[in-house]
Amino acid sequence: MQSASVKLHKIEAGAFMADGGAMFGVVPKRVWQRRYPCNEENFCVLNMRCLVVKTEDRLMLVDTGTGQKQIDYLKYYRISGVVDFEEELIKLGYSAEEVTDVILTHLHFDHCGSSTKYNEDKTEIVPTFPNADYWVGKTQWENFLNPNVREGDSYFPENMLPIEKAGKLRLVANDQFISPDVEVKIFNGHTVGQLVPYINLGDKTLVYVGDVIPLLASLPIAWVSAYDTFPITSMEDKERMLSDAVEKKQILLFEHDAYNECCTVQKINGKYRVNKIFKLDEIG
Ligand SMILES: [Zn+2]
Repeated sequence: MQSASVKLHKIEAGAFMADGGAMFGVVPKRVWQRRYPCNEENFCVLNMRCLVVKTEDRLMLVDTGTGQKQIDYLKYYRISGVVDFEEELIKLGYSAEEVTDVILTHLHFDHCGSSTKYNEDKTEIVPTFPNADYWVGKTQWENFLNPNVREGDSYFPENMLPIEKAGKLRLVANDQFISPDVEVKIFNGHTVGQLVPYINLGDKTLVYVGDVIPLLASLPIAWVSAYDTFPITSMEDKERMLSDAVEKKQILLFEHDAYNECCTVQKINGKYRVNKIFKLDEIG
């Protein structure tokens, strides 16, 4: 897809299975199963839809999926279809060396795994994108280094410490522009210091909603995942994100929804509802 100066591509980095009850928290299955399918074991398919943002002088990635490094350890999640980012970039006409920035929404295993890789003789783990700055929320980084009981299992040091060691880590303390076309805003409900990129496409803005709204079905304010660290903050996050999206007619791009890529939203009788659903490629 193209605008005046920004080109967007998705990289479908694989999929995993997550328990529907965990994804929808206190919402009864009787209600959520009408909005998102699950199998007989109650597992839902979640994608890891990552984004490539090409601007005039930057090649940016948003999130990198699980990668391969911990797949055996993460058996429970039945991860499938994991792609090699270096190959995917070549298919799009780019290379890993050309990536200037990697924005990591947060550091849970399904968002930053391909940020690092084994070197050729498998003796060391190194940044996959050797010339890129890696952008992470400052409080997310502190949480990663000193995790709480809930999130400790979701963080793998080898996904990030080689980046810090290479001097490529850039911490974001407040909402800020990373390039003239890309602003990151901070949300704290799912996990502290989650970065949400807002990408300026000229006449519209695309919001990579990450785990603030993991699925289109998670649009209602109270439909908060049981994985969220601060559920009330999650609801406030969603209200802030969605009221802005309605007012400014922003496009939401879902990272985890296996069935829906993008939508716009409207507010009807005080409730946020989907307006239009479409694919990233359809943004004109
Ligand atoms: Zn996630």
